[in-house]
Amino acid sequence: MAEETREDLATLSELDEKRLLEALSTRFTQNHIYTYIGDILIAVNPFKYLPLYEKTVSDLYKCHEKSLLPPHIFSVADRAYQSMLGKLATGPRNQCIVISGESGAGKTESTKLLLRQIMELCKANSQLERQILQVNPLLEAFGNAQTVMNDNSSRFGKYIQLRFQNASVKGAKINEYLLEKSRVVHQDEGERNFHIFYYMLGGISAAEKEIYGLLNPVLYRYINNQYGTDEMITQWSTKYLEVCNAMDMVGFHEQEKVDMMTILAGILSLGNIGFEPQENAILKVTDQSTGWLKAAAGQFGVQEDELLNCLICTMSVTRGESINRYHSQQQAEGILDIFGFENFAVNRYEQLCINLANEQLQYFFNHHIFLMGQREYKEEGIDWETITFKDNKPILDLFLAKPVGIFSLLDEQSAFPQATDKNFVEKLNSSFKGNAHFEVVRSHMPMFSIVHYAGRVQYNASGFLEKNRDTIPANIRGLFINSVTPLLSVLFAATISRTGTLMPQSRAKLLKSIDDNFNSTRKLSVGAQFKHSLTVLMEKMFAANPHFIRCIKPNSSKKPDLLDSKLIMEQLRYNGLLETIRIRRDGYSWRPLFEDFAQRYRILLIKPDVPSNKETCLCILNNANLKDWKCGHSRLFFKYWHQEELAKLIERL
Ligand code: ATP
Ligand code: MG
Repeated sequence: MAEETREDLATLSELDEKRLLEALSTRFTQNHIYTYIGDILIAVNPFKYLPLYEKTVSDLYKCHEKSLLPPHIFSVADRAYQSMLGKLATGPRNQCIVISGESGAGKTESTKLLLRQIMELCKANSQLERQILQVNPLLEAFGNAQTVMNDNSSRFGKYIQLRFQNASVKGAKINEYLLEKSRVVHQDEGERNFHIFYYMLGGISAAEKEIYGLLNPVLYRYINNQYGTDEMITQWSTKYLEVCNAMDMVGFHEQEKVDMMTILAGILSLGNIGFEPQENAILKVTDQSTGWLKAAAGQFGVQEDELLNCLICTMSVTRGESINRYHSQQQAEGILDIFGFENFAVNRYEQLCINLANEQLQYFFNHHIFLMGQREYKEEGIDWETITFKDNKPILDLFLAKPVGIFSLLDEQSAFPQATDKNFVEKLNSSFKGNAHFEVVRSHMPMFSIVHYAGRVQYNASGFLEKNRDTIPANIRGLFINSVTPLLSVLFAATISRTGTLMPQSRAKLLKSIDDNFNSTRKLSVGAQFKHSLTVLMEKMFAANPHFIRCIKPNSSKKPDLLDSKLIMEQLRYNGLLETIRIRRDGYSWRPLFEDFAQRYRILLIKPDVPSNKETCLCILNNANLKDWKCGHSRLFFKYWHQEELAKLIERL
């Protein structure tokens, strides 16, 4: 095959960045968006419909031989599934598929295709399968939004676990990480709020609008007083139907759906309430917005005066005494619109957390592809010239080290009620001066920069402490728990369960436990929770057999058939893909222990009744006539394609 149209870049004989870019570009112009680097799949986002995912294609990739078909995401699904069934190789039966890439590179679309194909593979045709597939449109409606990078950008992370029994799917669990909540009250230039607001406004009937108390969409500040063209509104209304169907399918009750829409309407009304100081300095609602206050109270199912009270003051309980602190105008709108006044493209707390998660994933990739592999060559006495790579461990340490890491310092500062975001940045500046991955930023704003594996990112720490604490003031929680809208009451009660208290069954019990816990539980900071969930995630991933999909964004304008070489090159570089090719070409990615290998493949011998040891392995391998493998002290070293060759031999038996 011509070098530039290779389906597997690990087979390129000459290797440099230029050739790699050329190979990917040529394939892309021929609509071949998928390419392998050994067992890793590269997917370049086509930004257009390609006939790659039809039933015929899906069938073709079921239980297929990898080298006989063009690279495809369905192939990854098949390999993960077959490995889980133990059909491909020894190793952990748990599989994990890691999909990475920058915003708009195609992770979410890839995830959906994978899920769909896995459902096809296990011939699931049940209510459960439909439910699992229907959760996605729901999650996307509430968790995705249009950003400058991506019209359907996921504003939360998710980890999907599928449980199998007898080769068919028996359950699914989705963990979400860190929804970008601040988007509800503020969106940067060129960005929108979460899809669901537009879908709802575009899709509900005039009669429903009346019920939920919704007015003309352009009136609402939380959707930036901008709405959409007729064409967009038609699309949104289709999406709204889809969401409603998905809710039915997943099992929401009619009342819950009504509650959900009413709460969304309430959020929109809340955003329109404005304040002004009175003579006694206590805030009052402006005359123009008394109507919005009334509407919000009605929609939330709470008393108007109690809602107002919560908006203008915070109650804190100290040694059994309650103290009311009145808010300044900015604080009152601060509740409502935490960062509404800063209008530049900045990176905030959410981005910091998201970027940490990406560092973790990159570390997992590096660890798997480079570190683990090369360490073992030495231990096993295999000749090997070490391939260097950009290790991002120092960046992880910068974030996670105790007691002096960014997150520890953030927690430390968050614990002081008086501390400010500026204090936090000063603390960072003094602690990390000279750190190669930290840069001090001179500005009147509390700013700092981090040199991530993917490049330098400047953060604005305004609101970091508040977001890290993420406390819902007691009076607000109390207000909403007592709402006549059952869903709202349950939602706010559930905020208690995050502190570690178990969710009791009945509402009465729930309310009692909330009373009991009101002041006794100490809530973990958002950062600490996030760190913890990342650790749990990493533990699960390290215990599974990984499959990697690296998504690449071909251009920044979301256009089909357009390739920006510089942008692609950047992504190839920080993903370490050149080094990956080299290690996949020259390295041995499959390394079974003698016992495991012999046990599995001794059926290839004429007399399989032999001990599971090194001699048996060598015997099997000589019989099989495989080339290019190595033998260590305790295990064998194979190239990634050997697995398939052995599987073929077994099939022929
Ligand atoms: P984010 O990090 O912002 O969530 P992402 O990596 O999840 O980004 P996607 O939402 O999956 O990106 O992809 C962005 C857009 O690119 C999609 O809405 C779709 O229009 C297009 N796209 C992605 N993958 C494909 C594909 N395989 N075929 C056609 N279009 C695609
Ligand atoms: Mg996404």
